Amino acid sequence: MFISFEGIDGAGKTTQVAMLQQTLQDRGREVVVTREPGGTALGVDLRKLLLGGASDGAAIDAHAEALLFAADRAQHVAQLIRPALDRGAVVLCDRYIDSSVAYQGGGRELSAKEIRDLSMWATGNMVPDVTFVLDLPAEQSHARLTGPEDRMESAGLAFAQRTRQAFLDMAADEPERFVVLDATLPADQVAQLVLEHLNSRAAR
Ligand code: ATP
Ligand code: C5P
Ligand code: MG
Repeated sequence: MFISFEGIDGAGKTTQVAMLQQTLQDRGREVVVTREPGGTALGVDLRKLLLGGASDGAAIDAHAEALLFAADRAQHVAQLIRPALDRGAVVLCDRYIDSSVAYQGGGRELSAKEIRDLSMWATGNMVPDVTFVLDLPAEQSHARLTGPEDRMESAGLAFAQRTRQAFLDMAADEPERFVVLDATLPADQVAQLVLEHLNSRAAR
């Protein structure tokens, strides 16, 4: 089973991935935890570029950025995600295709359809079974960030608002895959809602 966690910066994705990993491992499942960008060695190299910028400091063109994220995802699926799913593991992915649609589509204002088509091409149409969107008001994103600001985090409030809205729009368009959760709830309550949803899915 392939599960992704999405949401704007600081929404609690990494926290929820770790909590769900623990619960599923306690139930005896093989769990593969991974993230984008940076789920493979090539991805780690691309992540450095994407977050730190190019060596000459020149602005990265939005199309180039979209292609770098797609390259990260292509390698990620080929090297890690597809083999893990093939052997029956549960894959928990901290950001995936919907982050590209939200950030490069909504945020950078490229065509959402083109971004999605690019990712579908890059991954051989690999889409999660379930995607949890942790929905946080854009105004609260900055307050939750820890550590030095990276190139992508400095994009500003209007960018974060567009990104948040893009996640909500995708969830409304594809209610079978997406589950939107209130990320302002305490982390253990969010984790409980995640489990309830997965349990009810399994019982279907
Ligand atoms: P990023 O997009 O920057 O990777 P993220 O979505 O992975 O962020 P986390 O790193 O999990 O978010 O959480 C960001 C901060 O908010 C951390 O300090 C974390 O402890 C805290 N946090 C996580 N979940 C909650 C929550 N439900 N309520 C309040 N604080 C939270
Ligand atoms: O979630 P994580 O902190 O690992 O994401 C790294 C950075 O890359 C974040 O600042 C996020 O906003 C950005 N990002 C992006 N487009 C994506 C995925 C992540 O701008 N498709
Ligand atoms: Mg994180």
